[in-house]
Amino acid sequence: MKTVVLKFGGTSVGSVDKIKKVCKIIAAYKKKKNKVLVISSAMSGVTNDLVNKSKLISNNFDKAEYDTLLSTGEQASCALIAGRLNHNGFSSRSWMSWQLPILTEGPHSNARISKVVVKQLQSYLKNGGIPIITGFQGINNKLRLTTIGRSGSDASAIMLAKFIKADECIIYTDVDGVYTTDPRQYKNAKKIRKIFYDEMLEMASLGSKVMQPTSVQDAKLNNIDVQVKSSFVNKSGTLITGSTKAFSDQIITGISSTKNDAKITIVGVKDRPGIAASIFKPMSQNLINVDMVIQNISLNGKETDLTFTIKSEDLKKTEKLIKQNKKISYKKLSFDKDVSKVSIIGVGMITTPGITYRMFQALALKNINILVISTSEIKISVLISSKNVKKAVAVLHKEFKLD
Ligand code: ADP
Ligand code: ASP
Ligand code: MG
Repeated sequence: MKTVVLKFGGTSVGSVDKIKKVCKIIAAYKKKKNKVLVISSAMSGVTNDLVNKSKLISNNFDKAEYDTLLSTGEQASCALIAGRLNHNGFSSRSWMSWQLPILTEGPHSNARISKVVVKQLQSYLKNGGIPIITGFQGINNKLRLTTIGRSGSDASAIMLAKFIKADECIIYTDVDGVYTTDPRQYKNAKKIRKIFYDEMLEMASLGSKVMQPTSVQDAKLNNIDVQVKSSFVNKSGTLITGSTKAFSDQIITGISSTKNDAKITIVGVKDRPGIAASIFKPMSQNLINVDMVIQNISLNGKETDLTFTIKSEDLKKTEKLIKQNKKISYKKLSFDKDVSKVSIIGVGMITTPGITYRMFQALALKNINILVISTSEIKISVLISSKNVKKAVAVLHKEFKLD
């Protein structure tokens, strides 16, 4: 008998009809004599709606109450799934994270699951029941509800798979796998049959929202194979794994792009030891994530220019923090809020020379100007004007023979 964890995303449970359909998938696993556990997201739109309501109540909404509010979305979808399975003659019940409990560490809205207590689940499974568990949330050591970052139900499923020692962990979503690039943005995108954790982690972190980055990290750390499949069409999906068996010899596995990035340049900043730390300290204290950073070589030994990127939503706050910062002096601040990062990802680039040149040349031939470059062992990212993203993805997809 296999133990299977199935996770359904917001779109998959986005309406009553879709919930009925999802219940058929769950039933099919159960009929094959598996032990089946389900993690569900909130119905699509529900979490966003709650976020908007909190903003209307207060622009400084209490962090613990915010998590309490956001966690209600999953309670509803889980009860609806369990209710439908009961209607269809199965034994099923919902479990809120605090009822198990799912334990988390770290700050509200960005906590991480440290443990899932599975005792109740084990005896329920033994008796043939199908537990439906709220994704995206847990409790902290003060017994307050926490949430684990937007799209966090992916991580809930992987951590449940870890603690229940599942044989399979399947992420059901609204596309039938991980594609070479977002299939909704580029029609020639191709499904990837197998992808390494590290590649998936880069793709997820660089903007491919099909998997939440933390969840891929959790899968890698715990060596859990994850399948990504469609809730709507019965097709084989993508396997995210660490195993090297039967991999294709593509140099580049996928292309990711971001939306809503902003670039800030501080011109003529005094060049002295500790200047970068002085600039970034208040940002880190305000939980503003700084992404790409470049500092020019100082020509006169006295002044330099520093450029970095952040999410557009943090631009106003960042501008204020720099202007208030008494520890730095500079000549000018300049902003560009319509920039995006396009990245090519693939373990094949470790062993293949000339990839950087091919990427830059392909973009140059399309007249796409590169603003900032950053690289790691398995990815190259460029910052470009947002209006060129579609064109850049298309040309790189062709250049690296992914079409
Ligand atoms: P869920 O609600 O099931 O968690 P998400 O919206 O979080 O679903 O993720 C699925 C979406 O991810 C797809 O609809 C697709 O547009 C987007 N996506 C972005 N990049 C990729 C990619 N490389 N492969 C597949 N889907 C991608
Ligand atoms: N409902 C949460 C969100 O919209 C978590 C999830 O869907 O995974 O972010
Ligand atoms: Mg998701």
